[in-house]
Formats: sequence, C-alpha cells, structure tokens
Amino acid sequence: MISVPEAFDIIKQQVNKLPCHTVALPQAFNCVLAKPVFALYDTPPFNNSAMDGYAFRFADLQYSPNFSVIGSVSAGSTFNGTLMKNEAVRIFTGACIPVDADTVVMQEKTIQNTHTVTVTDEEITLGSNVRLKGSQNKVNEMLVRAGNSINEMIIGYLASAGIDKVTVYQKPSVCIITTGTELIMPGLPLQPGKIFESNSWMLNAALNKMFMQTQLYACDDSMQHLSNLLAAKATETDVIIITGGVSVGDYDFVAPALKQLGAQIFFHKVKQKPGKPLLFAKLNNAFIFGLPGNPASALSCFYNYVKPALHLMQGMVWPMYQTALLQNTFQKKEGLTHFVKSVCNNGGVTILNGQESYLLNSFAAANCMAVLPETATHFEPGMTLEVLPL
Ligand code: AMP
Ligand code: MG
Repeated sequence: MISVPEAFDIIKQQVNKLPCHTVALPQAFNCVLAKPVFALYDTPPFNNSAMDGYAFRFADLQYSPNFSVIGSVSAGSTFNGTLMKNEAVRIFTGACIPVDADTVVMQEKTIQNTHTVTVTDEEITLGSNVRLKGSQNKVNEMLVRAGNSINEMIIGYLASAGIDKVTVYQKPSVCIITTGTELIMPGLPLQPGKIFESNSWMLNAALNKMFMQTQLYACDDSMQHLSNLLAAKATETDVIIITGGVSVGDYDFVAPALKQLGAQIFFHKVKQKPGKPLLFAKLNNAFIFGLPGNPASALSCFYNYVKPALHLMQGMVWPMYQTALLQNTFQKKEGLTHFVKSVCNNGGVTILNGQESYLLNSFAAANCMAVLPETATHFEPGMTLEVLPL
C-alpha cells in the first residue's frame, strides 16, 4: 500500500494540462489563461474629462478667471474647434478633451452665465480632472499573465481594453457514477435495507463550485452494468469519478471491471483514513478516480486528490496546504495519514467530533480538513498542523 505523498506524486506525474482553445471573453470566466494578453490600444484611448464642467487652458487663468464658452462636448463626440485666449468648452464626464485644453474645472466650482463661466476653484492645478490617454495601460503592454484564473475583475479589465477573445485551458468534462444496489434517491419512500444516495448531489455541487459541467449516472452492483457504463464514458469524458464498490467485497466491481476493460491501474489503496480503498486509473483518455462509497470518505478523497488533479488539468497548480495551530487534543494509531474534518479560525484549528467515514454531520460543520501525519499518534494544543481550506 502506498503513502499519501506517493499517491499525490503518481497523480502529478500522470495528469497533464488539457489542450488550450481560444474563446469569447465571457466564456472564459473561471478558466485559466494559457497565453498572456497584450494591449491592442492605449486605455483610455484619448484624454477625457473626469467631471461635468468646463475644459480650458490652465495658463489662461493668469489673465482672468472669466472664460467665454465657445462650444460643448459630451461623451461619445469630439470638439473640433480651436480655443483662443480665455476660451472654454462645456464638457461632460468621459468626453474627449479639446486639443488646446489641458484642464477641467468641475461645474460646482464655477459661476455660470449665458455665454461665459467664471472659475472659482482655488485649488485647481494644471491637468486637474483630466484622465490621460494610456493612464490605465499602454498599447502592447502585458495586461494579464498566463496562469491567471479569469475572474469578473479580469473580464472587466480586458473588456475595457477592447479584448474580446482569450486563449484558455479547456475545462475537463467530468462524469460521476455512483454504485450501490442499496441506494435510493432522496425524496422517495425509504424501503427496508435501502439508504438515501448522497454522493452524487454532494460531488456535483463540489464540481459546480469549480464551475465544471458534470454528467451523473447511477449503477447497481453489477459487473456487467458497470463495465458497460465505464467503457462508454471513458471514450467521451476526461475524468470519471466512481463512488462505492472500490473495496474488496463480493459486490465491489470497480477494480474487476477496470481490469477486464484493460485499464491502467496506477494505484489501489492508500495509507490513509478515511479513503483507504482509493483507486486511480486510466481507461482510454479518461482518468478514473474510484472513491469509497462512504460519503465522508468520498468527499475527503475528492478534496485531497480529485480537485487538485482537476486543477492541474486546467493549468492551475496543485493546491498548497496551509498551517494552523491545533486547539484541542486528538489521538490516532500509527500507520495511516488521517484527514480530519475541522474548523479553522484566526490561525487556529479545532478537530471536530464524529470523524467516522459514514458521518456527514461533522463535514457539514467543517471549513477545512487537517492532515495528521502517518507516523504521529498524539496531538496536543499548540501543535502546527497542515490544513486544507474547503
Ligand atoms: P462501498 O464503498 O460500496 O462498500 O460503500 C460503503 C458504504 O457507503 C456503504 O454503507 C454504502 O451503503 C455507502 N454508500 C455507497 N455509496 C453511497 C452513496 N452514493 N450515497 C450514500 N452512501 C453510499
Ligand atoms: Mg457498495
């Protein structure tokens, strides 16, 4: 059985970035930039007014604060006339500054008459209220580096620079297969021996949080049904997440079905709790994660293995664990790495009660998983632990 770090290393070796493609900027939301973006223009593209007011030549103030108003320019148009001594142009926010003007006085700091205006702003200086061409970015400047995930701020920034397409890594297509003849959909009446199926909704939500599209399938404990489904899905998805049936019981068909189909199994079983039976394989071009059926095991393996692998495929880096100071006491046996549901705040971490792998109540209260190393057994307040924020 391999250790947790060995399992991580195998996934890192096997999983590569998916190909990149060029998409319309809105479609790039939450994708990772594969190529840097360079500016096609200066932004703003021209000197423009930050205020509603009057544009004039600052040097003219030395003669008089009174100006003749010889025209008007609003956002979207230009003023093509020439300014003579102590002449001003009425201007509105975003409008192009007339070529001869260099300063704008806001209208609240003027006295307006029919054809004249008096500048009363005592603090005005050369260039006041003028937003300069190229003051956000210059043409050919790098706007965003490759490797950045495109959020709404970056979308706004690139759109403001006139960028309408970007090259990003493809997002993996993911299929979730739940196995178990005992499972019924929440909402249906419970029957003897059956339990409610929770893994598919839970993992689907976790994937939606990563802005990923999923397909969901339910399979009973049948070698034939599972093989058929795996064979079909492995040709059309990048990642298949199976829950349940990955152990060694008589009804655990994940490993036998994969072997029968000729899949490459990279590992099966990791020295960890929860999630010891975890399996990682490849069939055609699809990476396959076989997660144990117990819901807390499935989610723990998702956070620690599947999510990082999905990050790698999208051009992101393997997530780093943070550190926090333990607040309570905990004991475990030597030999397995434990991932424990915990609550982190202000740099402290408290391990929750209810770590058994069939329980989801502690997960519902957790905001991180703390990592308890394989060889350690006693954990006391003040110890530094690695934590994975959820
Ligand atoms: P397995 O890994 O198939 O042996 O399942 C381990 C435990 O998890 C069993 O108690 C199953 O009933 C339960 N289980 C398996 N799949 C699910 C699921 N999708 N939702 C909730 N519980 C499940
Ligand atoms: Mg099962």
